[in-house]
Amino acid sequence: MQAIAVFPSKKSLQLVDIPQPKLQGATDVLLRVREVGLCGTDREISSFEYGSPPPGSDHLILGHESLAEVVEVGRGVHSLRPGDLVVAMVRRPCPHAECRPCRAGRPDFCVTGDFTERGIKGADGFLAEHVVDDEEYLVKVPRVLADVAVLVEPLSVITKAADQARSIFDRLPYDPGLQRGLALGAGPIGLLCAMVLVAEGFEALVYSRDSEESKPAELVRSLGAHYVSSTRTPVESLAERSGRFDVVLEAVGFAPLMLAATQVLKANGVLALTGVPSQAATAEVNAGRALRNLVLRNEVVFGTVNAGRRDYLSAIQHLEQFMVLFPESVHKLITHRVPLDEVPQMLTQKRGIKNVVEMNRAA
Ligand SMILES: [Zn+2]
Ligand SMILES: [Zn+2]
Repeated sequence: MQAIAVFPSKKSLQLVDIPQPKLQGATDVLLRVREVGLCGTDREISSFEYGSPPPGSDHLILGHESLAEVVEVGRGVHSLRPGDLVVAMVRRPCPHAECRPCRAGRPDFCVTGDFTERGIKGADGFLAEHVVDDEEYLVKVPRVLADVAVLVEPLSVITKAADQARSIFDRLPYDPGLQRGLALGAGPIGLLCAMVLVAEGFEALVYSRDSEESKPAELVRSLGAHYVSSTRTPVESLAERSGRFDVVLEAVGFAPLMLAATQVLKANGVLALTGVPSQAATAEVNAGRALRNLVLRNEVVFGTVNAGRRDYLSAIQHLEQFMVLFPESVHKLITHRVPLDEVPQMLTQKRGIKNVVEMNRAA
């Protein structure tokens, strides 16, 4: 069967022919992959900046944003049947007995760093016709979401951030009456975040470098949210123009913006960082003012990565809600569907919002 793999030592990304996987353990599930979403992480891996093959292998099969159909289940599998649609969780636990989060089933909080991530770090991904995975890491998706369920994995990053933000607001000794939310970035994560904010009753704003006439800006307005372009309003004057926010989710990965983002928080506000900046990025900040505000205004800034099963379940619930509230806008997030052999091209030239690989589509 065909798959897309990166060979870091040869610095190549290519279509490979590999044997079809088979069930081995009792809780194994054989899956036929239907769709795989591509994102910045895939682009970084395919430009050899990031990612690592499974131990002993010279290549890594790409793809972590999956949607697949169950073909066959091991005799110990109880929650899934052939024909079910599933999304696979990305991160898998480290082997260390002392890692409490991994032992508690939350490898997204792993403390040793020895976790694996399918399609990213030490484990093959889903850009293959068939894959085998353990029942434990598969999340069942309702059939009515088949067209959009490839968005569950990126959405789980936001539902995890929202869950963490909620616990942080819970520390306040009064009802904060949360009203205003800001998403920084108008890529898939920023736009999905705007959808979560709107669905949860927030007045939502998206701030990004795309112009106010761009497709993402239009999509934001179709949700009933506001859009402000950084080309017209620098982040320093965003609070002046648009007011301050109870909660801000950053999804850009641009270090200067990540550092400046606290300037738009209300007192007692929360900023969640999800973008991954370049290690070489430097930025000039007025550290005194930034830290002074953080203290004097009880602000909380936290980073968040990956997601646990409850966040995937919450993502599925949100997606169902989005399909009632603004189904057309959700469909518009997926701007391109391409066959497997167009992946190398797709990864070098970013187009539209979310690019999805359709595994059963011939070129
Ligand atoms: Zn991704
Ligand atoms: Zn761990």
